[in-house]
Amino acid sequence: MGDRCWIDEALERQGLLFDAKGRARRIDAPLAPVADTHAHLSMLGPDSDGAKVPSRASLEAAAVALARAWLVGVTWVVSIADASEDARDPAAYLDWLSAVEERAHEEIEAALAAGIVPAFPDEPLRVSLSAGVHPYGAADVDDEALGRLRLIASDRRCVALGEMGLDYHCDVDRELQRAAFERQLALAVELGLPVELHVRDATGDAELVAHRDAFEVVEASGIRDRGIDLHCYTLGPDAMAPWVGLGAKVAFGGALTFKRSDEIREAAGRCPSEAPITETDSPYMAPEPFRGRPSEPALALATAWRVVEARAGTDASSEATFRALWKNARALF
Ligand SMILES: [Zn+2]
Repeated sequence: MGDRCWIDEALERQGLLFDAKGRARRIDAPLAPVADTHAHLSMLGPDSDGAKVPSRASLEAAAVALARAWLVGVTWVVSIADASEDARDPAAYLDWLSAVEERAHEEIEAALAAGIVPAFPDEPLRVSLSAGVHPYGAADVDDEALGRLRLIASDRRCVALGEMGLDYHCDVDRELQRAAFERQLALAVELGLPVELHVRDATGDAELVAHRDAFEVVEASGIRDRGIDLHCYTLGPDAMAPWVGLGAKVAFGGALTFKRSDEIREAAGRCPSEAPITETDSPYMAPEPFRGRPSEPALALATAWRVVEARAGTDASSEATFRALWKNARALF
């Protein structure tokens, strides 16, 4: 991969993949299509955090980000919709996402016309969505919110419910969180959809109580047969083991690439080949060497290469790991 390639060209022509200091950074081309299984597309625009309806600015930003992602080989993006935040008005969110897709295709056409060669010209751009209520919004999980989730779930692009879960790092009452989590899991079981889980322990909690409680709730829910995505995995191999035993996919994002993340890399290196998947959690947690700037789906490629590195000790070739990451995401959703 020493030669000049399409990505260099894309960098120059499109300002693709710049780091926090504005320097163009090269990432090797992927060896199989890459999935970003968790991106907050509506938050990519300026001032969009906390917006109840996605803004016009976020439409442009999300469309350009999707086009860039597709060009570098991140051909599938799962957008996270929150029924108490950006998707409080389900119809408005779904219309917005349709408009984003349409604009992304225009951007892609423009890039192709400019001579940029995409990583996988025959792979379509896939945009899916997952709808839930984050544990921060647990107090909002009532019949009406569940009705909104049902509405979003009836859209053909909806492949999962979530993010949902337990966050003991925040001050939201734990019993309230648990009840909101259980109700959403029950809905996912009813609808036959897998779930994206957000589980975060309190600062310095060596007992990992949030993970322990979440595991108990998940085990009792019957969601195991539908499928589980343990979003934003930030622990080591030991904490991962019981989840893998439940058949969960373990989603690795930017955190895996950070300097002090040896434990996470060890988990990625040791999980069975059918477990790992990639994500970004855009606009948060941009992977190295992009840390410090807002993340976007294209950067899942940087994380995918670090997962490959972490798994270099296994028998799997780089290409086999890329294929497994893609296949695992396809299998779950
Ligand atoms: Zn998220």
